[in-house]
Amino acid sequence: MTTELHADCAIVGGGPAGLTLALALVRQGIGVVVLEKHADFLRDFRGDTIHPSTQDLLAELGLLDEFLARPHDDMPRVTFSWYGTELTLADFSRLPTRRKVMTFMPQWDFLDLVADAAAQHPQFTLLRSTRVDALIRDGDRVVGVTGTGPDGDVAVRARLVVDASGRDSGLRAAAGLAPTGVASAMDVLWFRVAKTAGDRYPFIQAGSGLIITIDRNDFFQIAHVIPAGAWHGTDADVATMKDRIARISPRMAEAVSSITAADVHLLRVRLERLRRWFADGMLCIGDSAHAMSPAGGVGINLAIQDAVATARILGPVLRDGTPAASDLRRVQRRRSRPTRVTQFVQRRLQGPLIAERASDAPLPFGLRMLRDHPRLTHLTGRFVGLGARPERL
Ligand SMILES: Cc1cc2nc3c(=O)[nH]c(=O)nc-3n(C[C@H](O)[C@H](O)[C@H](O)COP(=O)(O)OP(=O)(O)OC[C@H]3O[C@@H](n4cnc5c(N)ncnc54)[C@H](O)[C@@H]3O)c2cc1C
Repeated sequence: MTTELHADCAIVGGGPAGLTLALALVRQGIGVVVLEKHADFLRDFRGDTIHPSTQDLLAELGLLDEFLARPHDDMPRVTFSWYGTELTLADFSRLPTRRKVMTFMPQWDFLDLVADAAAQHPQFTLLRSTRVDALIRDGDRVVGVTGTGPDGDVAVRARLVVDASGRDSGLRAAAGLAPTGVASAMDVLWFRVAKTAGDRYPFIQAGSGLIITIDRNDFFQIAHVIPAGAWHGTDADVATMKDRIARISPRMAEAVSSITAADVHLLRVRLERLRRWFADGMLCIGDSAHAMSPAGGVGINLAIQDAVATARILGPVLRDGTPAASDLRRVQRRRSRPTRVTQFVQRRLQGPLIAERASDAPLPFGLRMLRDHPRLTHLTGRFVGLGARPERL
């Protein structure tokens, strides 16, 4: 038997974009059903960055105190170690935001916070462990989605379907929307390294590729950026990885010595976007509309800003009726420029991030500029901390 639900808006995907949109809509009294394929938000692959502009939004939502009550780390500057030379990449200290820091919080804690806040509203329904697999159509118009949940089949009919299911979205193709983009030049190897008392590593270490170290109290979560397609999980790949890590960070060599291929997850990076973000009755936002690379650590912010703009533009429309194509186009118009700018910068960063350079080679041009003109680090701070077009509720 199929469980049938009706909502003003059905949102596919409970990531940063989907849950932020849900919260912003239910606050306007709009009925929302979120369908999330996982049972919880306990996944490790998004990065843990909560940007200063996102924290302003949390303040607008009345959630900032609750956010800060959860375990977190604040970073006033993004620092970078180039074969041991310390540099500042981005400085947040002059941002026009309440909190002038990038905060690190495990994504599952952040998403729990947003989902809990949405659940205070009777208009909110979150269907966990529910994978959406198809669209419901009435003629050419999308009028809902179907999927499978823990108790069987589910159908949600809605006046608007929002696809926030991320970079591997299958719904886009079902709606006739195809992404275009450049193949990403990099992939990310994701693994844990044991931590013993007193161990510390710089946040970003670079030289031959890049090592990002996230301190998760009991262990270090490592994201190691490598050239795309270079990892096949063979013993030779593991040896190459350890060798590269030892060159960038001799101190880390010992800590990774026991890592095997089975400990390493390959995260494929994509950098692409839809030419058209909407079909009749359906809108794509976040990585579904524009898959972001981890370069610069800005994809989460962009996804959240998409959600905020969507709620602001479509909330009033949804209260009174059904969004027309022109309403959905307004969201794309608002958000496509910051997307293009951000992806342009990410594309330019890809080469330097994975370049193999000897330890005695001169600093790359961009890093030299940041070292010699520290004022530039406030500009990079704006780009990372605020995004190309910050949104307000
Ligand atoms: C390796 C890596 C590291 C990154 N690190 C950072 C970083 O440090 N900082 C940063 O800002 N950005 C980072 N990014 C980019 C960032 O992860 C994305 O831009 C951001 O997560 C996009 O949010 P989203 O809500 O649009 O999509 P997602 O975060 O991908 O969320 C989509 C959600 O939809 C659910 N879903 C998918 N399909 C279905 C379905 N059929 N039915 C139901 N649910 C479904 C998924 O389970 C998921 O919960 C990184 C990206 C990669 C690849």
